[in-house]
Amino acid sequence: MSSILWLRRDLRRSDHPALQEAAAGGPVLPVFVIEPRLWEAAGPVRRGWLAATVLATRDAFDGRLLVRAGRPDTVLTALCGEHAVSAVHYTRETTPWAVRRDDRVAATLHERDIDMVATGTPYAVGPGLVTRDSGQSYKVFTPFSRAWRSHGWPAPAPDPQGLQLIDGADDTDALTTLKQAVQDCPVPLPDAGEDAARARWAEFLHDSIGLYDEDRDRPDLDGTSRLSPHLKVGAIHPRTLLHDLSRRRSRSADRFRTELAWREFYADVLWRAPESAWHDMTSGMSPLYDAPAHARRDADRDSDDNAEELVRAWQEGRTGYPLVDAGMRQLNATGWMHNRVRMVTASFFTKDLHRWWGEGARYFMEHLIDGDLASNNHGWQWVAGTGTDAAPFHRVFNPVRQGERFDPDGDYVRAWVPELRHLNGADVHAPWKHPEGHAHGYPAPVVDHDHERRDALGRYEHVRASK
Ligand code: FAD
Repeated sequence: MSSILWLRRDLRRSDHPALQEAAAGGPVLPVFVIEPRLWEAAGPVRRGWLAATVLATRDAFDGRLLVRAGRPDTVLTALCGEHAVSAVHYTRETTPWAVRRDDRVAATLHERDIDMVATGTPYAVGPGLVTRDSGQSYKVFTPFSRAWRSHGWPAPAPDPQGLQLIDGADDTDALTTLKQAVQDCPVPLPDAGEDAARARWAEFLHDSIGLYDEDRDRPDLDGTSRLSPHLKVGAIHPRTLLHDLSRRRSRSADRFRTELAWREFYADVLWRAPESAWHDMTSGMSPLYDAPAHARRDADRDSDDNAEELVRAWQEGRTGYPLVDAGMRQLNATGWMHNRVRMVTASFFTKDLHRWWGEGARYFMEHLIDGDLASNNHGWQWVAGTGTDAAPFHRVFNPVRQGERFDPDGDYVRAWVPELRHLNGADVHAPWKHPEGHAHGYPAPVVDHDHERRDALGRYEHVRASK
């Protein structure tokens, strides 16, 4: 029996349980559908990366990955008719929007006697499967991570034997849309596709995993895997990574497993509580944040203008705090930012500028190649102190001390902030202490960190007292 493999966030050939399942039944037609609503919402950075990965995956399928544009229920129904297909195989999605879409598509296909068959998820352990003995979910990371490890995960799926691919008629407009999205991408894209992901993983295992535990917090070093964009689109599966690490017992290998567990934890939280994507999970926190400009009275217009200018300074990397500015400039120029700096810039946005985390999360989602609703929005809630598992609110990152500790020679800041290249070593982190610090146009701090920290903690006390 012929079937369709509907590819979405699983753009690869190997370790692919849904492909294996489809191939076991007969010839397979791999299809990618450009969904207009999702496509528009993704923005040019994520669109570019997705398009580049789809094109690379098409090459890996010897050109026999069919690309179509339109509503998936309409596109898939038509293709099932054209190719006498009786089943559509796919990897189960667990984000709120995708769950609703898949239910809708399944209902439409079901009416035509076509099965929708879900196999696997983008995670080593599918969201919803890690529970307490009582069946309850985990809200806090550390016990989740312990239970996730004891749950274990399956071995990578073997490549299907004698895979037969069906030839479909290309939609040249849809292919042009993909190529255009790559061209229009405002940041330079890394090499895309499964081979590139595996090559990056092999390089990381060879060069960097040994020191990962020490180096992972240092934005000035190339100490992390940079696999997040590939994991986002499924060019490599975490199961493959965990399998390759299975015989390594070092602290660094263990630390890497823990980082993958964060990705799985946030996906689990999102699956169980879809509202966590855009709502504070700790109630009553709104007094922590200034009302957005549109919600304030006319009399406050001056302060509105200033507040919006502060947000723009943060977005453009002009806050006068070098580590924050380096991070935002790295994000704007490359579509990626180091994890430590994501935490520092998010803390600055929420606790120095007192803005609601969702606004900052939206900006990140527009600019990150690896932008992922679960990891991004829950990462923001963690920093803001509003998530199911959050850093204590009184943990306010000091951008100067974070710079001195994690960019001790100042190389990261100098790489992204050319106006500070004349300062030596860690001096870059506090240019106002040097007579020549602002000689090349680097701005003075837009707010006083110590003052804003006290303000944030005062707001927190107020929230606590009123509970
Ligand atoms: P490595 O250190 O090599 O880690 C390996 C993998 O583990 C990563 O690729 C990622 O899949 C996972 N991982 C590591 N740290 C985390 C974490 N804290 N949370 C979830 N997964 C993690 N990650 C995204 O993939 N997409 C996002 O949109 C995203 N937004 C973030 C926003 C904020 C405010 C914060 C604090 C973190 C965010 N992260 C996000 C998590 C983390 O910053 C990135 O996964 C990491 O920087 C990617 O680099 P890497 O692949 O070199 O990581």
